[in-house]
Amino acid sequence: MSAGVVIVGGGQAGFGVASTLRACGYDGPVTVFGSEPHLPYQRPPLSKKAHTGPDDLQVSLVPETFYRERDIDLRLDEEVVSLDRAARTVTARSGARVPYTHLVLATGARNRPLTVPGADLDGVHAVRSLDDALAVGRALATAGDVVVVGGGFIGLELARVALAGGARVTVVELADRLLGRALSPALEPRLRERHERFGVRFLTGTAVRALEGPGRVERVVTSAGVLPADLVVYGIGAAPREELARDAGLAVADGVLVDELLRSVSDPWISAVGDCARGPHPHAAGPVRLESVQNATDQGALVGRRIAGREPEPYASLPWFWSDQGDVKLQIAGLRAPSDEVRLTAGDSPERLAAYAFRDGLLVAVETLNWPAEHLAARRLLAHGTPVTAADLAGTTLGALARARRATEVRT
Ligand SMILES: Cc1cc2nc3c(=O)[nH]c(=O)nc-3n(C[C@H](O)[C@H](O)[C@H](O)COP(=O)(O)OP(=O)(O)OC[C@H]3O[C@@H](n4cnc5c(N)ncnc54)[C@H](O)[C@@H]3O)c2cc1C
Repeated sequence: MSAGVVIVGGGQAGFGVASTLRACGYDGPVTVFGSEPHLPYQRPPLSKKAHTGPDDLQVSLVPETFYRERDIDLRLDEEVVSLDRAARTVTARSGARVPYTHLVLATGARNRPLTVPGADLDGVHAVRSLDDALAVGRALATAGDVVVVGGGFIGLELARVALAGGARVTVVELADRLLGRALSPALEPRLRERHERFGVRFLTGTAVRALEGPGRVERVVTSAGVLPADLVVYGIGAAPREELARDAGLAVADGVLVDELLRSVSDPWISAVGDCARGPHPHAAGPVRLESVQNATDQGALVGRRIAGREPEPYASLPWFWSDQGDVKLQIAGLRAPSDEVRLTAGDSPERLAAYAFRDGLLVAVETLNWPAEHLAARRLLAHGTPVTAADLAGTTLGALARARRATEVRT
């Protein structure tokens, strides 16, 4: 078999590399290894509604014909178990050995495990894969009391899914506030209050000590008391799947370490993209590892273009995120640091709120609740590097400011 591009990981980022290679005219062999049995799919829908059967989960990125028509050798249910950097080959669990000219690691992340006693009882779930989402969907159909461990994006999304299904829902979060460093302290109480209004109960600053029940979970023992539970779902963060890289001697540190072109800092013939990669970014003070569809998509496309022979570009896409939590759409553009100054502004309806983060007097990030137009305006301004000061935003919104600036440009 002649050597070409081998992509380890059939998820959002791996798909981005393979499809971009072909879109840019690369005509060598392209092989994608995916350890799951499913076609590459989107994960965001998994935690945003209850899924009860495979027909209910139309999440594949593209149909199977896409890969056949582009001669992409998609090997599903086939985990890569080792890399030989000297021979430039990968070996899969089946024993298949495939040579590469370029190797791309797109192995994603795995959920951090819940390590308290009883975490292995029936009725305790995390959501990362399609199969996880189906298991939670089935369990939700009969659950009266649901305890969500972790008040992050996925925990809050699942809390609202459980509530919509008629369950009583308690979210237990170890930190004093929800969404840790992802959301500014100014906006967090507003988000929390919206969920409480709909009936979600929060226990923040509370530790889960044990899960109990006779084979199946019935109770959650916390530092604030015991909660009844027919179902426990947890979302307490994710860790990069970096063991292949580490075992092959590549530098890793909570992610495969890459340079600005997304090449491993240890081997220029190996790149890493998506949730498993950590590298420099112009919007961050140091190397960052981002877990988002935007990051996986943009990094995959960038590496695909470079390997296909386009002019190499440093990775600099504006980071942005979203999370749909029942009636709340949370969107974030840019990267906020804890020391940034944050100003909260209400939109023209009580449901709309924005938190603007300033560093050295300039806008660096914007968090919005139920205000997609303001999020889009933020993305445009931040991506173009248009300077916006707190004074520019006094008594106005980014949307209005952008419109006013465009009108001035047209007139001059
Ligand atoms: C429930 C959930 C909800 C989310 N919601 C949002 C959201 O609303 N907005 C947002 O921006 N982001 C969201 N995310 C994050 C987003 O889905 C990820 O950032 C994105 O999928 C990362 O893409 P990736 O390709 O790096 O990893 P993945 O999509 O995780 O794909 C990696 C794939 O590689 C496979 N793999 C790993 N090791 C090997 C190996 N050795 N051999 C072969 N295959 C291997 C894995 O099994 C996996 O299928 C969500 C994530 C989850 C889990």
